[in-house]
Amino acid sequence: MKMLTCKDASHLISERLERPLGFQERWGLRMHLWICVSCRQFVRQLTLMRLALRKLGERAKADAAGAELSPEARERIRKALAERGGHENEHEH
Ligand SMILES: [Zn+2]
Repeated sequence: MKMLTCKDASHLISERLERPLGFQERWGLRMHLWICVSCRQFVRQLTLMRLALRKLGERAKADAAGAELSPEARERIRKALAERGGHENEHEH
């Protein structure tokens, strides 16, 4: 089987997030990741990044719902909002 280049591999790694890979592609990528440290790191980075993004999203949702917040967290948010009082416009994105 033909070895993937790092370019092929990183292409497949990001493709994999968008669509399921075919058998050949999966296998080729796995072979490449066995031998290539830098592509393994790329996968790790990408995975961590996606995890972090998902966590951020979940936390934002929880904050919005106010459902899973501890009283301390609620108090922190309340204080932060109070400190911002009167400067709402300056803090808008
Ligand atoms: Zn590589």
